[in-house]
Amino acid sequence: MANDPLLGPVVVSADEIAARVVELGAEISKDYAERPPLLVGVLKGAFVFLADLARAISLPAELDFMAVASYGTATKTSGVVRIVKDLDIDLTGRHVIVIEDIVDSGLTLSYLRKSLLARGPESLSICTLLKKTGQQRADFDVEYVGFEIDPEFVIGYGLDVAERYRNLPDLRVYLAGEPE
Ligand code: 5GP
Repeated sequence: MANDPLLGPVVVSADEIAARVVELGAEISKDYAERPPLLVGVLKGAFVFLADLARAISLPAELDFMAVASYGTATKTSGVVRIVKDLDIDLTGRHVIVIEDIVDSGLTLSYLRKSLLARGPESLSICTLLKKTGQQRADFDVEYVGFEIDPEFVIGYGLDVAERYRNLPDLRVYLAGEPE
């Protein structure tokens, strides 16, 4: 992968991610000390982030996963999301933290958030590794943000293009731009 001509500059290095994940884990551990959270990872992009973040949280957290597909093109979400893999755990009365890889327009998370809130959790917050500056079209709070980045198409640390690059340790710009 090192000599892949489509791999652009590093946006966030593996070391910077590791340091920020420790901070986020400490913050969440403090905020949820009295109410152990259920971490809900949104597959597949958040799998690396969730694996690291979960180990930075010093609470008896539980984990579950869901997978969503957007009715749009590969990257331009329409805002209508289909749940491809649903959760195994009932959310009633739980303190849920949704773990996402990236918030771009925010439409995916907005839809997901509403659908999870309808299941009666005691609380629901969102933790995203990345948030693109100035791109959000949906109006909701994101409680925990790893990094705000410029609106470029990025890959690595779980984020893909057609299932590739997820295993890159750094976040990088994808030089071919956003795939259609
Ligand atoms: P939103 O609904 O916020 O516009 O889009 C969110 C989803 O689009 C993310 O969960 C991710 O799957 C995809 N996405 C948005 N921006 C990027 C990016 O820069 N790189 C990659 N690999 N996926 C992205």
